[in-house]
Amino acid sequence: MEIKRSGFAASAKGPADYFTGTVRIDAPFAGSGNLSGVTVTFEPGARTAWHTHPAGQTLIVMTGLGRVQREGGPIEEIRPGDIVWFEPGEKHWHGASPETAMSHMAIAEKIDGSAVTWLEKVSDADYLGSPS
Ligand code: MN
Repeated sequence: MEIKRSGFAASAKGPADYFTGTVRIDAPFAGSGNLSGVTVTFEPGARTAWHTHPAGQTLIVMTGLGRVQREGGPIEEIRPGDIVWFEPGEKHWHGASPETAMSHMAIAEKIDGSAVTWLEKVSDADYLGSPS
């Protein structure tokens, strides 16, 4: 057993190449296999770029009000306690709502050392669409 005590890792800023707006990344962890996870906090209006995960991804919403969208689908609102699964290779984004911050845990397995493939940014027009 190993307990990683709160504060074991410094907070990091979400890289501008992969995120729009202010994003904080905390508490990265990895298991003995390919599993890895991180806590991500999005300020209002902040979101990921479009991306895919080679082995899929699970999000567990912790606080606030967020938005997710898969390519070709509607914008969906997500709330604390919601659990979101993205299929391997499914193009999508996730982030805060325009007026309210959101934090989630993000858990994904790596394939050949990679857990994510980053694509283009989410435009304001796409992000600001009405949620279903
Ligand atoms: Mn994702």
